[in-house]
Amino acid sequence: MHRTKTSQPRTLGDHTWRDRAACSSTPHHRVDPELFFPEPDEVDRIREAKTLCSQCPVRRICLDAALENGDSVGIRGGMTEEEREPLHKKLEQRLDYARVNEVLAGRDIYLTKAERLAVVRAAYQADLPSARLAWLLKITEEHAEKLYRRTRREIRNRAVEQQKRAGTTPKNQSHALKKPKVKRPVRDDLGTAA
Ligand code: SF4
Repeated sequence: MHRTKTSQPRTLGDHTWRDRAACSSTPHHRVDPELFFPEPDEVDRIREAKTLCSQCPVRRICLDAALENGDSVGIRGGMTEEEREPLHKKLEQRLDYARVNEVLAGRDIYLTKAERLAVVRAAYQADLPSARLAWLLKITEEHAEKLYRRTRREIRNRAVEQQKRAGTTPKNQSHALKKPKVKRPVRDDLGTAA
């Protein structure tokens, strides 16, 4: 499972990190933007661009932003298009619980589909109101209720399957299907990234 290691993921819609980019051109420090769009055989230009990236304080954020925005053209975060390609493909497989916890704590950051589902499950288990889930995921309350219904069904179906495998009698099922009592999640409750 792919995991992107970011100590502080960027907030969605925040572009202020670009002001700190080593490739940002100023009157005292001219940078040709075309340098970051070399042909594959322009080895010297690639090396020059990568040297700038290696000194860049926002390199990690730049790479994350490129992956999350599907920006597959040019050099980003010190990687060429070709070097980044496998990361673009792997991104949607990411399940980073640190990010899930960040969102549960109220941060607005990019999540993969698997990470959004993990937020829904954690919020459901913690009995968070659907309005809170809607706020966390920036969706409508109606949509949040739908996600809760789906989660409830999934949990129920899983319990039924487990009971079938364990040979539990139907008489015991109503007790077994009750929603488990869980404490509200704290940041470490969800474990580490898979
Ligand atoms: S990592 Fe490279 S491309 Fe990204 S902002 Fe920094 S210098 Fe520019």
